[in-house]
This record gives sequence, C-alpha cells and structure tokens, in this order.
Amino acid sequence: MRKDVRILLVGEPKVGKTSLIMSLVSEEFPNVVPYRAEEITIPADVTPERVPTHIVDYSEAEQTDEQLFQEISKANVICIVYSVNNKTSIEKVTSHWIPLITENTDKDSRVPLILVGNKSDLVEHSSMETILPIMNQYSEIETCVECSAKNLKNISELFYYAQKAVLHPTGPLYCPEKKDMKPLCVKALTRIFKVSDLDNDGILNDNELNFFQRTCFNTPLEPQALEDVKNVVRKNLNDGVCDNGLTLKGFLFLHTLFIQRGRHETTWTVLRRFGYDDDLELNQDYLFPPLKVPPDCTTELNHNAYLFLQSIFDKHDKDRDCALSPEELRDLFDVFPYMPWGPDVNNTVCTNDQGWITYQGYLSQWTLTTYLDVQRCLEYLGYLGYSIIAEQESQASGITVTRDKKIDLQKKQTQRSVFRCNVFGDIGCGKSGFLQAFLGRNLMLHEVFPDFDYLSDADLACDIVCLVYDVSNPYSFDYCAKVFKQYFTDSKTPCMIIAAKSDLPEIKQMYGCSPLEFCRRHRMPPPQSFTCNTAAAPSRDIYTKLTTMAMYPHVSQADLTTSTFWLRASVGATVFAVLGFTMYRVLLKQR
Ligand code: GDP
Ligand code: MG
Repeated sequence: MRKDVRILLVGEPKVGKTSLIMSLVSEEFPNVVPYRAEEITIPADVTPERVPTHIVDYSEAEQTDEQLFQEISKANVICIVYSVNNKTSIEKVTSHWIPLITENTDKDSRVPLILVGNKSDLVEHSSMETILPIMNQYSEIETCVECSAKNLKNISELFYYAQKAVLHPTGPLYCPEKKDMKPLCVKALTRIFKVSDLDNDGILNDNELNFFQRTCFNTPLEPQALEDVKNVVRKNLNDGVCDNGLTLKGFLFLHTLFIQRGRHETTWTVLRRFGYDDDLELNQDYLFPPLKVPPDCTTELNHNAYLFLQSIFDKHDKDRDCALSPEELRDLFDVFPYMPWGPDVNNTVCTNDQGWITYQGYLSQWTLTTYLDVQRCLEYLGYLGYSIIAEQESQASGITVTRDKKIDLQKKQTQRSVFRCNVFGDIGCGKSGFLQAFLGRNLMLHEVFPDFDYLSDADLACDIVCLVYDVSNPYSFDYCAKVFKQYFTDSKTPCMIIAAKSDLPEIKQMYGCSPLEFCRRHRMPPPQSFTCNTAAAPSRDIYTKLTTMAMYPHVSQADLTTSTFWLRASVGATVFAVLGFTMYRVLLKQR
C-alpha cells in the first residue's frame, strides 16, 4: 500500500474548491477565503486509512498552466469540482478538465478521478442525472459525490473517497466496460480460494470461511452473517453455494459484488493479506522474508513446516495412495506461477511403481530444496500460503538454521538432520546405480561425468565423501585414490570407499596397493561391497553407515571399523532414515 496520498482539487473558478478545503480543516464554513489554500498535510492518525494525506488547491488567478500541469502529474488522485447550480462548470468537466488531465498524466498509471458537485445547499434537485453518463463514459472516474462546503455535507466523505481511490484503486480489479473483474484479479482470488480450501473439495465450508475471515479481517463472522452472505450468493447464482459452502464461482461473485458496491477495500484487504501488491503480483517482501544463514551453517525445515507440507500433500492426494499422480501434482502446484518440479525430480526422489512421487519422495524434495536453495524454498512456501495457513509471521519461521559445523565438530554432537554426501568415481564405475539403489531401484538412470580437475569449493564442502570404484575394472580404483589424495587426505570430512558391481568377479586393481590396504593406511573403514544387480531391493546397510559417519565425523576412522560402534550408532541413524532419503540428489555429484 502507498505510504502517503496527494489529493489535487481542480475546476472552474468560484465553484468552491478553496472553501471545501477550509471547511474540512476548520469544520466550519469560511465566509472569506483566499484564491488558493496553502497545501495542507493531514497526519496519518486522523485519516480513516491511517496514511498521511496532502491536499493541494488550484487557482487560475494565482497559478500558471505550467504549474497546474506539474501539480496534475504529481497528484495521486484528482477531484474535479463543479458547482451543482452552474451548468457551464459541469460542461467543462468533459470539455476541458478530463482531456487536460489525460494529456498531463502517464498513460500507464492512470490517476483516479473524483467528480465533486459542490453547493448542494443551493438546489433542490441532484445533478446525478447529468453526471452518471459521464461516469459511464470515463473509466478513470472512481466515484462522484455531491457536497456542500457551506453546511459541511459530505466533506469528510469526499476526502475519504479520494484517499480510498488511491489506496484501494478499482483499476487493477475491475473493468467497468465489461462490468466484470479483470483476469489478474480473478487469478489472484482463485489462488486465495485454493489456499483457503483446506480440504481441497472445491468448496469453502463454514470452518474454512471462518478461518479465512479471521486471517483477513481479524474477526470471525457471526453465524447469521455467514448465512446472509451465502443467501446473497444463492439468490444471484445457482452454483455459487454447494453443500452449504461457497464454491469458487460464489467466492468470485461475492468479490465482484463488493467491488460493484464500492466496497473494493474488502477485496484489497484479502489480496494484500495473501501477499499481493498494487499490480496484483506477489510482493517480493512476502515471497522472500529476511533469513540470515551464516557461513558453515545449513538450512532445514522445522517440525511445523513439515506438518504444513504434510497437510498440503494430504489435501492433494485425493485417491489416498500416498503418491501424487501427474494430475494431483499439477493441482498441488496450481497456486504457483510456474511448475517448480520438472521431470528430473522423479529420478531423484522415491517414486511408486507408476513413477509417481511418493509422500517420502515429496518430503525429500522439500528437504533438498531447503538445504540447497533456501530462498527458493521460502518462495515456494509463500506460494502455498505457509505463513497464513500455519499462522506464522513469515515463511522464515519454518526454517531452522543449524549452528556452525565447526561448533558441531568441537562439541562432538549435532542437531542437524540433513547431511550432504558427495559421490566421486570414474565413468561407468556404478555411481548412478549406487544412488538409484538408495531409492529402492535396481536401475541405472543417470550418467555422471567425473572430472575432478574442476572441483570447486562447493563441490568439496560436504559432510561425507563416497569414492566409488568398479571391482571388475582394474583401472577404476586409481581414480578414487587420486581424488582422495588430492582433496581429502588432510580434510576433516570422513570418506568411505565403495566397491561397486560386487556381483561381478573381482579383478586385481592396477594400483600400488589393494583398496583394503589403502583404507587401512589412511584410517578409513574397509571398502563396502555393493551391487544393484540383485533381484531383491539393494541393501541399505551402506546408506545407514554413511549417515552415521556424517553425523559422527569426530569418531576416528579406526573406531568406525569396529562393529560395536556401528551397532550403537545405527540406532541413532535409523531415526534419520526417512530424512536420509533426501540424500539422493545431495549424494549425486552431477557435473
Ligand atoms: P474557488 O474559486 O473554486 O476556490 O471557490 P471559492 O472557495 O473561492 O468559493 C467561491 C464562492 O462560492 C465563495 O463566495 C464561497 O463563499 C461560495 N461557496 C463555496 N462553497 C459553497 C457552498 O457549498 N455553498 C454555497 N452556498 N456557497 C459556497
Ligand atoms: Mg480558490
């Protein structure tokens, strides 16, 4: 919303512009007025909309055309004043003032106009009959009002309408020619409806309506008022109310009605509450609330955010098969301006037999986004209406920023539940199979290009490293040994060697020592045999070990080789098994 409002009064001489301003300020009719009133500023706390408001007078006798044009271009709203007992002053509205204003304002940002018929105390009849055709002709005219500076009739109303025209413009919401809401407004209200339809049945029931009312207006709706609203819709539409709740059609109809009755501030309140700005775009402040992530800290979703995401999943998993069909997924992301998850997501998280993202896969992808790109996560939560539905300050309150990893190492414990494992290995050594097996698949789906001459700091910043070699390829271990020696000999990051394709006959590696000997020398646990070429689901044992090593990096490599440690630690690690599945994409060092 705007921070202040500038109102300009124009019109023929002697129609009473200066008197109107003086009457407003002194609350009595001044018998003598100057040609032009000084610019006045009404402080925020005495205006109905609580924004400082400047009121600017114009006088042909005191000001040049140039000065007038300047004032017109500075104004947020212009009141064209005429005198109800003076025909010429009415004619000049269309023959002179409206064209003059159009010429001196930016075409894209039309200033709203208000037609003001002053001196209503002097006539019996109303000027409305003459004015209404003008209003219908010019869509920039927000409203018209008859008033009297002399007996103070409608004076404060006039300035309130002017303020409202700026703060709650009808322009972006409504097309007067078509007598209907504009497409962007319909789009925004449709998103709001979908976010508020907590059970996704296409109807806002009493509970949902009350919640909506409370979030937007801070007060619940009285049961009778709720019935009245529904009755209005029933009377006008036959499919606006269904099962005693409001359909999207009914919801849109209500807002059209608000706008047509001049209560468009109601619609604006709703739109702003759901994050929209004056152009009906989602605010950057709303989408990206401030969140500080110091270096060496990572980002995770907290319990509250997971509960919210769970409810979003539930409401879209209509057939209750714990997976999102392409159609269900599209419906879930319908409140987004674009589809955030491409087909690649299906390859990186758990899916069901049909290749649809499962509940676990869905949460994993969220965990991953939060870990890798927290700004994006904030944005996505914003589209879903997290702060509104979960009744939080902003999306930032759904994020836990973990403490510095160095402190974890010092204290030998961690509260983190998401860890990053980078997987290195020569071409064709079985990395993708290793990663896909993690998702319970036996298939190889990804080609990973290893080129360790170009490892960036980001590539190396992880919680655990996996070095994969192929037992059937005698040259593949050499790659692992080189990566280890070049990057990880002195690093604090634990490393694990994976002997992949263990179903094939083992061939002696062409390297100075055997992989087992290499591990012993560098105080690493022995190579872990792995194959995804099994009829059964591949063993998950290695993944538990990886998670454990990531969680307890301080435990010496020698300790890690003893079975008692594994027994102890794996109890803790299985707790993280669910979140652990997230590790897939994190695991995958795709280059
Ligand atoms: P301006 O030139 O548009 O600023 O008009 P003024 O404020 O100077 O008013 C012109 C004349 O109209 C003055 O004599 C005012 O007293 C008179 N006037 C202004 N408003 C009213 C009104 O509401 N009723 C009546 N009867 N006279 C008014
Ligand atoms: Mg004047």
